[in-house]
Amino acid sequence: MSYESELLKLYKMPIRKEVEKALIISLYNHSGIIKEFGSGEEIVDEIASSFSLNEKQREAYLETVYRKENRVKKSYLWHRLLFRAADSLANQNLVTRPTVTFRLTNNKEWMLTEKGFDVALKHLKIPKTEKDFLPIKSYEVQKVVKKLKTISRPRVYNPFDEEKKTQLITIESKIRKRGFRFAIVEAYDYKCAFCGMKINSPDAKTWEVEAVHIVPHRLRGKDDMWNGLALCRLHHWAFDVGWFTLLDDYSVRISSKINFLPIGAGKFGESHFLESFIKEESKIFLPKEKEICPHKNSLCWHRENIFYK
Ligand SMILES: [Zn+2]
Repeated sequence: MSYESELLKLYKMPIRKEVEKALIISLYNHSGIIKEFGSGEEIVDEIASSFSLNEKQREAYLETVYRKENRVKKSYLWHRLLFRAADSLANQNLVTRPTVTFRLTNNKEWMLTEKGFDVALKHLKIPKTEKDFLPIKSYEVQKVVKKLKTISRPRVYNPFDEEKKTQLITIESKIRKRGFRFAIVEAYDYKCAFCGMKINSPDAKTWEVEAVHIVPHRLRGKDDMWNGLALCRLHHWAFDVGWFTLLDDYSVRISSKINFLPIGAGKFGESHFLESFIKEESKIFLPKEKEICPHKNSLCWHRENIFYK
């Protein structure tokens, strides 16, 4: 038995498979990302607590002798165990290593992959169909988000995906759709572009705001920033059914049908569900980067095909 295994046995440390499972669940609870393990990192203590490790177990260390440098290096047994479990998960392609994640996010973190996400759902007995609604950003989804936010604005833009011949739902299209959602709501700072509403669930895990396709997805509208907008549920609905639209300068136009609503309809108390949110310059809230604001070709299509004049 190796020196390390002897120590693990001596301190009655959890077995590696159990630590792997705890890591996957922990990644899930932290939206798919956890920091590299180091002293003082909260995650190290958090997972230790999930095993109710005592002080001795947390502080046990092993000594490695570096003969060439003539020194002894001490490392915490618990950190080593965490690292070995994470390394094994990376070998199974359930997480990405900090060196890989760094190339994408500039942060040294362990990140859940799509495969790891599926395993987390299995451990937590959550149906796979929930995937679209959960706030977990896997490595693959993170890659889509980065691409969407950094790709340069095309000179000639067609909001329709002409290459998409069928409505076949593939794993790639699902990842792309989730990436689109994250990229849009992050770019709009989790706010409704129309009314500015920004609110999350009491557990702080999900945001109310939705990513909207200007040319709808069902009509082959593209999953990119130029065909997207963040809106709260009420204003998402109002935009999709044509109660309001946007001009090329992002100012709002409201349907004249609004004047024919029955008395008492479309109001919160004294406030109108659309008119009370129109500011003086009547423009919507947009991301700081002009490059990723909606394209006029998408808006023009909405004005001509969805909006009720
Ligand atoms: Zn709104």
